[in-house]
Amino acid sequence: MNRLNKRDFLKATALLGTAAVVPAASLAADEGAAAPATIPPVEDLVDEQFTSRAGRHFGSQVIHHGEQPGYQVTAISQDKAAPCYQRPGNLHNPTVAALLRKVMEMEGTDAAVGGPCGMSIISQTYMALLKPGDRVVAHRCNYDWVMALFREYLPSWGVEIEFVDMTAPENLARSLQAKPAKFVHWEPYVNPTMDVLDTPALIKIAKQAGATVIVDNTWLTPYLLQPFRLGADLVIHSVTKYIGGHGNAMGGVVSGRKDLVVKIERAQNWLGGLFRPMDAFLVTQGVKTLPLRMRQHCRSAQMVAEFLQSHPAVARARYGGLPAWNRNAQSATLKGFGGMLGVEWKNDAVHRDLGRYVKLILNATSLGDPVTRIVARREEKPRGIPPRFTRVSVGLEEPEDLIADLTQAIEKCS
Ligand code: PLP
Repeated sequence: MNRLNKRDFLKATALLGTAAVVPAASLAADEGAAAPATIPPVEDLVDEQFTSRAGRHFGSQVIHHGEQPGYQVTAISQDKAAPCYQRPGNLHNPTVAALLRKVMEMEGTDAAVGGPCGMSIISQTYMALLKPGDRVVAHRCNYDWVMALFREYLPSWGVEIEFVDMTAPENLARSLQAKPAKFVHWEPYVNPTMDVLDTPALIKIAKQAGATVIVDNTWLTPYLLQPFRLGADLVIHSVTKYIGGHGNAMGGVVSGRKDLVVKIERAQNWLGGLFRPMDAFLVTQGVKTLPLRMRQHCRSAQMVAEFLQSHPAVARARYGGLPAWNRNAQSATLKGFGGMLGVEWKNDAVHRDLGRYVKLILNATSLGDPVTRIVARREEKPRGIPPRFTRVSVGLEEPEDLIADLTQAIEKCS
């Protein structure tokens, strides 16, 4: 009997999946009806930079790597097999250690430390590593509370912050030539503007100027991009989002250069804020399906984005996989863009009222789990957030149902 190779297997399962979700009524539908949205082929999107030390594939490593037989969730400091306080550094707890080892394996790093949510690990990183007089250069837009940390708190600690538009990498070069910086910070696929930044080019510029590079890789995950392998110094994840993937646990991990991670671990002794073992247990279960989920998020978001792009109520759809939004949509650097997209509406009423009329989709914040959500944003010119803008986090429901829900809700707004 012929054995299926991986590519044929993925093709076959994609076809089975498609057939299984086509409603009976539409199978019988008149051939003249509107053509269904094109379903992109399922393929392995993992960044080619990924190489496992064990010689295995990404999908196998997230399931098996880092776990110790016999451990599920162990109580903090009451583990009889390896008695130790969880602090400093989390690696003393076998449950948290399993998750940290998986993140290190995925990102190609040798050191990692976790905290109770993404924001905690971002603030711990900067509180541990910054000194008065330091300078940080960041993209003009980041996750809202990172913006608050940078805009309100860094200056009060005597740290200079400059925001530059990194959609043109030469702006970063110009800023660092004018004045060196200790840290450069960005999100490769930006929350909530959907700017797609050229991470390899930005890393090169920052490193040449002697800066330490901190990349928040929450949205793409190491399945789609591994910044440490490209030369970043620290890579941050809110594992509350795609890595955990089920919206049932919170956590944050920073991994990368050991000399820096050790300093963050040490600061945790006085900052507090550790990764809770129960959350680590849940995230460790969730991460096992990361490749499958990310492939589906990418396929579904592409379909929803294409639908929105052609809808008469939409001025512009923003998704990394749309060539009209991202001229490098098909570039080799990024093979997929995950589940996040944005919509610029033509009309105030749709922007204002859509959340009232969606039935399946939630009108709520958060992202990166099975549930699709929308959030209407206010215009913020300095960050590049346009007027009448809605952020959509496409979940794991069938994309045809999401498109149907958006269609009926948009109709009710107009
Ligand atoms: N970084 C990014 C890119 C995010 O989108 C978020 C939250 O949405 C965070 C960090 C903060 O994560 P957490 O909610 O786990 O604190």
